Parts: sequence; structure tokens; C-alpha cells
Amino acid sequence: MKTTKIDDDEHWLASGAAASYARMRAAGCPDGVTSAGRTHAEQQALRDKFLAHEGAFALPPGHSQHELGLALDLPKPARGWVRRHGASHGWVKDVNPKENWHMEYRKAADTHRDVLIQGSRGAAVKALQTKLGITADGIFGPKTKAAVIAYQKEHDLEADGIAGPLTRKSLGI
Ligand SMILES: [Zn+2]
Repeated sequence: MKTTKIDDDEHWLASGAAASYARMRAAGCPDGVTSAGRTHAEQQALRDKFLAHEGAFALPPGHSQHELGLALDLPKPARGWVRRHGASHGWVKDVNPKENWHMEYRKAADTHRDVLIQGSRGAAVKALQTKLGITADGIFGPKTKAAVIAYQKEHDLEADGIAGPLTRKSLGI
């Protein structure tokens, strides 16, 4: 499983889910993450706490999407934002009605998944940077954004610094 750090490297998600989280943040989702990807041992520790009535509900290890890096537990107000706007980004709420802070990522439902923005990371960003002729470190930072804007201006595309379907098609990626 390819994973990516999120939330100032405090947490991690599977790379596709992390990219989606970055897009939601750019779209206005407030910051703050309670829990994201978990190791088997971390899930076991949370399960033990739950069984000892010392913590919130947690599934047994081997049964949680957190161990696949495909689940986020969010505090307010991020939770409210994702509950309202997360569906088109692929985030499913109320998987377990007892856990209204828990959201799970479904790639097939993510209508924004081909969109690269500042904060995006990974192989798709590397491919973009290579096409733009800039250092291909796989991290979409301010320099990548500036290069995207310059490219968009040159090619009569909306110069928003976001590599969406039209810009990516123009670049051939
Ligand atoms: Zn959860």
C-alpha cells in the first residue's frame, strides 16, 4: 500500500485518499484530524481501550478501513464540512451510525480524482512536473503551481494553477 502523510505529517492515508483530502482542504475543509491511517497494533490498542470502556468505539484489528489508510476521523468543524461536501470527493459518512466523526474513502465515487493541486503528492505530480520541465520531486508546491499557471497562460487555459482534466489533457498526462 502506498501511503502519504497528511495534516503536517501528523497522520497518513493511502495515497489516493490523501490526495483527495488535500483537494478537500483546498476546497475549504477546515484543518484538524483526529485519526487517519493506523497500524494493526494501533487498531488493537484502540480496540482494547474501547473494550475497557476507556475509549470510543473501535473495530477489531483486521476489520477497520483505518488500517488500509482509507478512513478519517475528524473533529468539528472539519467533520461538518466533509459531511456536507465530501460525497463528490468520494467520502462516505455514517458507515457506522455510532461514529458520526468517521468517514471512508471510495475512489470510484471521487469525481475530483484526476485533479492535481498544491498539496498533491505522488506519481501523478511527478509526471506533471516532468511534462512542465521542472524538478520532479512528486510534491506539488508553490513552484509547481507557478509552472502550471505559466503553462495555462501560454495555452489559453484558465490560469488557476490547478491541473484539472483540461490542463492534464493539454499536457498529455
Ligand atoms: Zn474511524
